Amino acid sequence: MSTALVPRALLPTQIHPSELTEPVRDAFDALMQRADMAAVGFALSLYKALHREAAALVGIQLPACGELAVCTCQDCICGRIFDACDARFYMDGTVEFVQCPGCSDDHRIYGDD
Ligand SMILES: [Zn+2]
Ligand SMILES: [Zn+2]
Repeated sequence: MSTALVPRALLPTQIHPSELTEPVRDAFDALMQRADMAAVGFALSLYKALHREAAALVGIQLPACGELAVCTCQDCICGRIFDACDARFYMDGTVEFVQCPGCSDDHRIYGDD
């Protein structure tokens, strides 16, 4: 667990979905889906705005890069929401998965390549 204190930062930089209520989780998922669609359409300012909204919704800081990631680690049911700059990606077939720092420290998956 990284509960490192960051001076000046009042909000955590990551959160686990078990700390959120069901409606907040659903609203978060909906925002991230809209952000994904915005990314596909290259609507970058909308994409950033949706990530900002999503971070505010779940009560974490907007990462410096302005982008959130959700852990999709296949080894555990993680789902942690965190700074996309800290994300590790791996491929399983043609599908890209994301590991949060905790997962990649604990049980790093190397994927196909
Ligand atoms: Zn994880
Ligand atoms: Zn994991």
